[in-house]
Amino acid sequence: MIQPMLRARNTIVEIDGDEMTRVIWAMVKSQLLEPFIDLKLERYDLHVLSRDRTDDAVTVHAAEAIRRHGVGVKCATITPDTARVDEYKLKRAWPSPNATIRALLDGTVFRKPLLVHNVPPTVRSWVKPIVIGRHAYGDIYKSAEMKIPGAGRVDMVYTPAGGGAPQSLVVHEFKGPGIVRGVHNIDSSIRSFARACINYALAERVDMWFSAKDTIAKIYHGTFREIFRQETDARRADFQKAGIQYIYMLIDDAVAKVVRSPGGFLWACMNYDGDVMSDMVASGFGSLGLMTSVLVSPDGLFEFEAAHGTVTRHFRKHERGEATSTNSTATIFAWTGAIAKRGELDETPEITHFARALEASALETIESGTMTKDLASIADPAPGGHVSTQGFIEAIAERLRAKLGTSPGMAVAPR
Ligand code: NAP
Ligand code: MG
Repeated sequence: MIQPMLRARNTIVEIDGDEMTRVIWAMVKSQLLEPFIDLKLERYDLHVLSRDRTDDAVTVHAAEAIRRHGVGVKCATITPDTARVDEYKLKRAWPSPNATIRALLDGTVFRKPLLVHNVPPTVRSWVKPIVIGRHAYGDIYKSAEMKIPGAGRVDMVYTPAGGGAPQSLVVHEFKGPGIVRGVHNIDSSIRSFARACINYALAERVDMWFSAKDTIAKIYHGTFREIFRQETDARRADFQKAGIQYIYMLIDDAVAKVVRSPGGFLWACMNYDGDVMSDMVASGFGSLGLMTSVLVSPDGLFEFEAAHGTVTRHFRKHERGEATSTNSTATIFAWTGAIAKRGELDETPEITHFARALEASALETIESGTMTKDLASIADPAPGGHVSTQGFIEAIAERLRAKLGTSPGMAVAPR
């Protein structure tokens, strides 16, 4: 008798993308998911030509779908620049889909490296993941800049919307040429950021660090610190229950502590710090192919993805019919993150169990010495060689079948 197929109760929003990650996406679905589990998917195609055809409406629809269903999984997508506009003959250089979705969900991005025994972090003390939570609004990314041609005064002026006296401040009395920049942030966005970080730390049961430079930027960074204090104070009982701590540090102190720490915490970073530190942490842990990413909104919506891009260089080889060795681990974990979250929200533990089995299969495949080129070059002990994009996925599928006790093509019974 054929056992009933493992079946998910509610919908996951599937957001397809571009280039090599689109190739991997299809392979993961057909070889690691469809033979084992019946997922309810609502698919949005964010291929750059589909975005162009719909004047980018499809990106907005995808974000709205995540708002409806709560959980999404996204493939990497091209953010078009002028070269891409020419390459794909686009109507215009559409904005970054990630930025659009992030803005619509008011979300915070958390990047977490996956650890395997045979890919040692460059930083010897790191034995547990360091998760970076990056505030994704304002600061230098939404600033007003001006070149100052010569002597003169620059003022900063606030004009109250409802009338009332304007307030002004001298920024600098220039004696000669220079530069000036005005940056801003808004309390509601800082508060959402703090709340998303708190939700993440509580869900993952990891300590939460926040760092800024409030000794210097007493008002700007001081406001961040104060809002984080208010929000963490409000959840103090939850922190206690989870056995985790909130720690504030000056950014320079934090950087020094991070490289001597064993890891195992969430580091909440202001926008620029998060931009810089996430790349430092990614390279310190090994490969972009092992870096996962999740967008969490303050009201508990989740979008999972790989942290890397569409791996264009590998896609060019693939187009020419050459063999590729692209690491699909982070893409697989984007899927398992979404599936496990769906199972958790739906209270269907067998669905979450499947996701964990697939994750274990992927990590064990690497630890057994079967890996793609990016890892083969940094693994210790060095493996005999590396496998192709397809070879890696095949090896994972074989392990997964063994783990779930199924023969190829056979359905999995719910436990
Ligand atoms: P990338 O796609 O992350 O790739 C950069 C390089 O990192 C690759 O050439 C490759 O190095 C290595 N790499 C990344 N992921 C890998 C994997 N899974 N397995 C093996 N090696 C991997 O960044 P990019 O080339 O700068 O950007 C390509 C496109 O992606 C751009 O159009 C950009 O807009 C887009 N992008 C999208 C997202 C997103 O959707 N979240 C994020 C970033 C970039 P080697 O070539 O040395 O093997
Ligand atoms: Mg960066």
